[in-house]
Amino acid sequence: MGDPKGFLEIKSKPAGMRPIYERTDDYSEVEQVLNSEDRQLQASRCMDCGIPFCHWGCPVDNLIPEWNDLLYRGDWKGASERLHSTNNFPEFTGRICPAPCEHSCVLNIDGSPVTIRENEAAIVEKAFAEGYIRPNPPQVRTGKKVAVIGSGPAGMAAADQLNRTGHMVTLFEKDRKAGGLLRYGIPDFKLNKHIIDRRLKIMMAEGIEILTETEIGKEISGKELLKKFDALCLTIGAMHPRDLSIDGRELDGIHFAMDYLTQQNKVNDGAYVAYDNRITAENRHVLVIGGGDTGSDCVGTATRQGAKSVTQIEILPKPPEQRSADNPWPYYAKTLKTSTSHEEGCERRWSLSTLRFLGMQQRVTHAEVQEVAWEQVNGNHKMHVVPGSTEKIDADLILLAMGFVHPVHEGLLTEMEIGLDSRRNIQVNPEMLTNQEKVFAAGDAASGASLVVTAIASGRRVARKIDDFLSSDT
Ligand SMILES: Cc1cc2nc3c(=O)[nH]c(=O)nc-3n(C[C@H](O)[C@H](O)[C@H](O)COP(=O)(O)OP(=O)(O)OC[C@H]3O[C@@H](n4cnc5c(N)ncnc54)[C@H](O)[C@@H]3O)c2cc1C
Ligand code: SF4
Repeated sequence: MGDPKGFLEIKSKPAGMRPIYERTDDYSEVEQVLNSEDRQLQASRCMDCGIPFCHWGCPVDNLIPEWNDLLYRGDWKGASERLHSTNNFPEFTGRICPAPCEHSCVLNIDGSPVTIRENEAAIVEKAFAEGYIRPNPPQVRTGKKVAVIGSGPAGMAAADQLNRTGHMVTLFEKDRKAGGLLRYGIPDFKLNKHIIDRRLKIMMAEGIEILTETEIGKEISGKELLKKFDALCLTIGAMHPRDLSIDGRELDGIHFAMDYLTQQNKVNDGAYVAYDNRITAENRHVLVIGGGDTGSDCVGTATRQGAKSVTQIEILPKPPEQRSADNPWPYYAKTLKTSTSHEEGCERRWSLSTLRFLGMQQRVTHAEVQEVAWEQVNGNHKMHVVPGSTEKIDADLILLAMGFVHPVHEGLLTEMEIGLDSRRNIQVNPEMLTNQEKVFAAGDAASGASLVVTAIASGRRVARKIDDFLSSDT
């Protein structure tokens, strides 16, 4: 702890966002950066607590007080090394992590936590700019071969860790480019895709083979891979979206959020989409069903595409503005979150259930919704409809953003007869092994839809388990 009085003397100074009028005209990242001097002062606010609750809150166990101290002292290289010792990709989490660490920071008791996420991003960006992050291939190879299937943050982290240990790793990806939801789900205004390419280039230079446009279970069977590799790691994500099977679902203009977001990310990357297949909010009244992060990303994308209006509805009640008594610090605060996309303009409504979609000439024109009330029964939410509260919302583009239920089963999982748990995710034992010999699983595919930081943590854990398995063999 470089400055024992830092937390008393230095005020919290988040870098803030680009002005709304400017940022909604493009897909560049909305967040700004501080100059190095201010950033170091922000790091001096870390109190190096005896019990660092931030560390407890971080799923990858980032050594937050340690790298904050190095940052404060201007040792950017040391800070980057300490940061990378627990997190393979701080440039991703530094941009898009919801930062449970900051919720747990002791300074958050009075609402001004250390800017941990921003400090993390600043350290890794400086490290790239100064050339501290260079390919560092392993000196010794073990002769073991691992196939990692699915190149999202879990697959990338597993591949990176296994490669560092000396195993030969091939990372398979069915899409055109690697990155999983980082690339095709999360909009560019939250994470510029050059950030993913920069890291993938280093991973390839360190010896990882990345084969894109290769769907395992289709182009190559999983069983075929089992013959060629010493272990398989399934990190295929949880991509099966939750649907809304109500009247009118078949009308044109109703899409899953992922189809919509993926298309815009691909268009930003130069892909051509035929006019008839283009999903765009331009001049449309947009209704986003689902109040979470995916829905918020749809809101920001629709705003940039030139929507006439954007409304986001959620079936659950509006969260409280402040922590409730049963959700105290240092737990993650279950309070109302207003994202940068919400700030750019949209109507948000809660406690609305969607009854049916209405349309004309095969195109959706409205959604009929009804108010619901919630009460707590034995710790669970119980829903009642509010009589006489039915109404119609104008909408000629409807985006279904109600989350993901489990991984896609068709193809790889069916072919390999992979066992599933009660939520229909891949079942793994404490060794992260599936019901099939030599086949491990991690990330959203095993846990259900979660966060980038938990996917990285899971990828790191499975790499350790696979390494133990391969080492016990020799
Ligand atoms: C729109 C959206 C926004 C989000 N925003 C955030 C955010 O801001 N912050 C945050 O922390 N989290 C966010 N998340 C969640 C986060 O992106 C995921 O939890 C995380 O990406 C999961 O990582 P993963 O590696 O397990 O799977 P994924 O990222 O889903 O990657 C799985 C990969 O496997 C590939 N694949 C699947 N089957 C095969 C096969 N048979 N052969 C080859 N390849 C295959 C897929 O194409 C995909 O590339 C968001 C999610 C969505 C949908
Ligand atoms: S990865 Fe997320 S939780 Fe961990 S230190 Fe970074 S922002 Fe905080």
